[in-house]
Amino acid sequence: MDREKYKSLVETFFGWDQPAILSILEELLTAAAVSDPRHPARVMSQNYETAAANPEIHVLPGNLKDARDAIFPYFWGTDGWDSPLHLENVRGPANRASLIGAFACLLKNPNLCTDRYSQRSNELEVKAITTLANLIFYHTQEPWGVFTIGGTISNLYGAKIGVEKVVPGAMQHGLGQQRVVGLCSSASHYSNKTVAGWLGIGTQQLIEVATDENLSMRLDLLEQQLKELYAEGAKVAFVVATFGTTDGFGIDDIAGIRSVIEAVAERHSQPTPQLHVDAAVGWALAFLTEYDSVANPLQFSQSLLNLVGRAQAQCVGLRSADSVTIDFHKMGRGHYPSSAFIVNRRDDLKYLARDVSQTPYFSEADARRDPALFTLECSRPAIGPYAVMASLNGIGLNGWRMLVARGLELAERLKQGLEQLEYCQVLNRHTPGVSVNWWVLPKGRNAKEIFDKLLAGELSEDQRLRYFSEVKRSIEKREKSVDPSLDARLGFTTDFGFRPHGISIPAWKAVFFNPATSDAIVDRILVSIEEMT
Ligand SMILES: *Cc1c(COP(=O)(O)O)cnc(C)c1O
Repeated sequence: MDREKYKSLVETFFGWDQPAILSILEELLTAAAVSDPRHPARVMSQNYETAAANPEIHVLPGNLKDARDAIFPYFWGTDGWDSPLHLENVRGPANRASLIGAFACLLKNPNLCTDRYSQRSNELEVKAITTLANLIFYHTQEPWGVFTIGGTISNLYGAKIGVEKVVPGAMQHGLGQQRVVGLCSSASHYSNKTVAGWLGIGTQQLIEVATDENLSMRLDLLEQQLKELYAEGAKVAFVVATFGTTDGFGIDDIAGIRSVIEAVAERHSQPTPQLHVDAAVGWALAFLTEYDSVANPLQFSQSLLNLVGRAQAQCVGLRSADSVTIDFHKMGRGHYPSSAFIVNRRDDLKYLARDVSQTPYFSEADARRDPALFTLECSRPAIGPYAVMASLNGIGLNGWRMLVARGLELAERLKQGLEQLEYCQVLNRHTPGVSVNWWVLPKGRNAKEIFDKLLAGELSEDQRLRYFSEVKRSIEKREKSVDPSLDARLGFTTDFGFRPHGISIPAWKAVFFNPATSDAIVDRILVSIEEMT
């Protein structure tokens, strides 16, 4: 081997040429800064044909600029969602405190498997988890948990604990011939199905319980369903309560679910199912838990205080959970992946534990603290803990309260505005969150009357299909007529979660995740609907 060439290769790619690194970082930062927030649609078009047909790898060793050039068009062609006009879905711009945290993490690249590979970063994970746990469970004695690569995996951890509780040793000998089931609401996230499939209980064994109009699981139906399942001899491993459904921000009555599952399980001499709460979207309401509405130090308006009061009442339910999923990369505006799985009582992690003999290359792992002994993943990124601790402490509790409250305020403004238009119907009027689902029908229609008929089962199939296609056509029409530099970008769902008589209901959708979205942007949505219809 040519030693000189080798030496220069190592120096370029493993040395620390700070000016070279800094200069490329500055170029990237500048490029990120110039993307005009008023033109969110103007990103480069994709070139998938070549991506698959023309794989690319240089032959000769180059330099850091080659690394830059290899990724730059794709970086440039990606929208960071900084524009306040983005209201399509549960995604917002990542906050800059998170950027500092995530960047620090990249510089050290720890692996959160054992202390040996992560040192104080492992400690940071414990701190981040405990902080989030105290926010969610309020007064909790010994919470524990880990960061995962997403809400799906966090939900998987919760479900897996439930499976081990009702089929002890399933981790070793499998489910055998047992019928194992889980329950969730019909408005819950599809990841619960993914989990049921991947856990091997089968997607058909995930039983969906219908919700009421507010997207909240019906407790009478839950009770009935549980009794039937026990009577059939099924093992009920888990119930997933949703705290903030993805489209409509529906919240399940967690304390109510707790009472039902304990009572019914006891009557059938069965272990209580794991009560896992999927708070991937809604967890951030917990920032408001201790807000003093009387002293009102942040000077919230009376109508905002009402919303805050409702959010506080909902947060009490979280204390009844056994475990919870928190996506900090959603309302925490943190970098991906920053999802946390947290148990209320550390003892529950024993259901996931393996011993050191099963982790040969982590033979020094210590069961008191090293996640390698119970996590699904081996190599684990530390972006989550870094993004979370930097964001929580940079922005501060009162900062978070303002951010969450502002989202509630904007959603309420849109709901109230839409209520003035008789051809529009807000579908999630009473969910206490940052998203709005609604219908826009042609002018002249009475949307409320049509909705009430749908609830009463008085619409013929023909009528229903006609109205639903009008809702779809109206948003297509809007998309053609908007000015992308001024008009908000809205989302659409074919099923916002509440299904009266089993019918999926389509809806327009707006989610207020971007802190820079203004009252004027909301008002313009209303004007554009009026002008269009
Ligand atoms: C987004 C979401 C998930 C999935 O989380 P990922 O982080 O995208 O894997 C699960 N549940 C709910 C309610 C969600 O909104």
